[in-house]
Amino acid sequence: MRPLFLLVFCAAASAQARTTVAIDVGHFIEEPGATSARGRPELDFNRDLAAEIESAARSRGLKTLLIGYDGFMSRLTARTAAARNAGFFLAVHHDSVQPQFLETWEFDRVERPFSDRYSGFSLFVSRKNRSLARSLACASAMGEALRGAGFSPSLYHADPIPGENKPFADRRNGVHYYDNLIVLKTARTPAVLLEAGVIVNRDEELRVQSEGVRRRIAAAVADGLQWCL
Ligand SMILES: [Zn+2]
Repeated sequence: MRPLFLLVFCAAASAQARTTVAIDVGHFIEEPGATSARGRPELDFNRDLAAEIESAARSRGLKTLLIGYDGFMSRLTARTAAARNAGFFLAVHHDSVQPQFLETWEFDRVERPFSDRYSGFSLFVSRKNRSLARSLACASAMGEALRGAGFSPSLYHADPIPGENKPFADRRNGVHYYDNLIVLKTARTPAVLLEAGVIVNRDEELRVQSEGVRRRIAAAVADGLQWCL
């Protein structure tokens, strides 16, 4: 191939790669993540929201690749390997709190842990990711869009207590550094992890499960991505 053609071909290929967003459904069936105040596994929340984000991103002209939706992807590095040709990696999760903040209540005649102490979204980037600047720009854009849609950052992950201590990368938009998070540091693309809401919080669990709220979260995330990519 002549150099000019090669150049045009490569530019077109990389422009296409830039616009593919890998949307990773956090957790898998055997280890489904946190459990909500009413006993629903985090994996189910992540699946619903990831599918909604995928449709919002597509309607904005972004290409998407949904990873882990079947619930069988148990190796974290397999997720980032699957996304190697994408232009961006977004891990979709829902949040819990440190165990000392959990209380118990009875729901459906079962005693279950909950905590109404915290609520809101948070976003994470790793300083070990090779594209930190782009990761952070996208996380900030998503946080700003979420705030614009009426959601608030949770902020508690920066608290100076064991298990937290995740310093702010952008406090206003709820973005923290979480350097050793496997999917963020092994991604070959810019990468962000979203905790969309705190599902051990009894009100927030219901909020993030409502179709309207889920749609608004997905739309804000897709707006942020469209802006930064
Ligand atoms: Zn999770």
